[in-house]
Amino acid sequence: TALRGLVDLDTSFVRDLEGMYVPWSGDVVPDPEIVVLNEPLARELGLDPERLRSADGAALLAGSAPPADTTTVAMAYSGHQFGNFSPLLGDGRALLLGELVAPDGTRRDLHLKGSGRTPFARGGDGKAVLGPMLREYLVSEAMHALGIPTTRSLAVTSTGQSVQREQPEPGAVLARIASSHLRVGSFEFAVRRGPLVVDLTHYAIARHHPDLLEIDDVPDRVVAFFERVLDAQASLIAQYMGVGFIHGVLNTDNTTISGESIDYGPCAFLDAHDPTTVFSSIDTIGRYAFGNQPAVIGWNLARLAEALIPLVGARDDGEVDADAAIARLTDSLSTYAARYEHHQAAVTARKIGLRGAGDPSPLDDDESSLLTDLETVMREQRVDHTGFFRALSVDLWAHASGHEPTETAALAPNPGTREWLERWFAVLGDRATTATADGMDAVNPVVVPRNHLVDEALRAGEAGDMGPFHALFAAVTHPFDAPSDPRFALPAPDGFSDGFRTFC
Ligand code: AMP
Ligand code: MG
Ligand code: MG
Repeated sequence: TALRGLVDLDTSFVRDLEGMYVPWSGDVVPDPEIVVLNEPLARELGLDPERLRSADGAALLAGSAPPADTTTVAMAYSGHQFGNFSPLLGDGRALLLGELVAPDGTRRDLHLKGSGRTPFARGGDGKAVLGPMLREYLVSEAMHALGIPTTRSLAVTSTGQSVQREQPEPGAVLARIASSHLRVGSFEFAVRRGPLVVDLTHYAIARHHPDLLEIDDVPDRVVAFFERVLDAQASLIAQYMGVGFIHGVLNTDNTTISGESIDYGPCAFLDAHDPTTVFSSIDTIGRYAFGNQPAVIGWNLARLAEALIPLVGARDDGEVDADAAIARLTDSLSTYAARYEHHQAAVTARKIGLRGAGDPSPLDDDESSLLTDLETVMREQRVDHTGFFRALSVDLWAHASGHEPTETAALAPNPGTREWLERWFAVLGDRATTATADGMDAVNPVVVPRNHLVDEALRAGEAGDMGPFHALFAAVTHPFDAPSDPRFALPAPDGFSDGFRTFC
């Protein structure tokens, strides 16, 4: 077929994990057309952007034409949604086309979202619409540019269909790349199907942490794997907190084993720094509020621990020693808080110039209390999260060049701000230099996809004008550079964020 050679896909998931998917195909749609294509990512994956832009390429990326010689599947998983267990979720509107294997052996899923109903669709229509898919494309690529582990976006393709939401909207399909789509919910699914969880765990270890295969003792190996996941998630959430990102729906089915951020539905960036911030229209109890994210991921990882009991308790005689397994996994799980604090301190220390890149030395007491009090200054005065860290480096520049620092006080006028600044300069000591300020500017973004800007760009895109989207995309994927449009660096107009709501 014309699609032969367009993408070469392997299918290790299908080969190794029967019972965790159903073979499935996407809907045939009337008029697949590429709306945005991530050419640099395509090239990085060894794909030819020109061929992806052809009619065959667009049909493939819309899920309308299956790739040659492969089995495409809808993945099965369970999940705790807002704390409630759903035994059977799965890809209700998504499809795993297969795995792209790079010359160095790196394996990445090529996955479609919005390709039609699957056996897991429950009441859903299996479709996705243009605005939300453009949102995921933009925000995931912004996160990547910020240095945060995330699924990537390869393309958004319109289908030519009209999809009924609150009003009719253009149908679209997102092509997504991930180091895998294994989630905590995959383990919750497998453990309820006996030996499947053994196969899944071995698959996950081989795919994500092959070095652990050298540990011969299976319980030891699985505990080591669990601790890798703990650490990857602790690090991810520390980075969310650093940039002021609210995922919005951190259910266990949206918590990856790889530590990549996944599923950009009701996500949003903070304007005013406030741990209680919730934007998602469905998060009525604030379970996934900005400041709750570290704790809720700890809760999700406890669900992963439960699924690993049969492996960690495995005895030579084939029985499971659940008590022993629970004790070991509980010990591991109890390291999560310290892991999170370690990553969080490292992220913030870099943001305020206390440590450079790759300097893992622990903070002393003065430095630690500086971080704690910074959080108080930001919270009490609800400062603009992104703007405040840039203002700090401006003030460090001023201080280092013998001028009066005024920038942070303009954002946070309480006397506490000035006191904190003086302590910061004192703790920095001979590190209070313009070079340190420059280092801060390399980790504190000028531009994040602020809600009002994303909204504006998506609305124009839905009306057929992709210009604003491309302009914003260019800015958020170069987040440390002054944007072409200075508006992209400014907070939302007063009051915008107060009533702002996001939707899945
Ligand atoms: P999400 O909130 O996107 O992580 O999705 C949660 C679950 O709902 C997953 O099983 C999705 O596949 C499913 N889902 C979401 N939207 C749809 C839809 N329009 N049609 C079918 N299933 C859906
Ligand atoms: Mg999901
Ligand atoms: Mg979603």
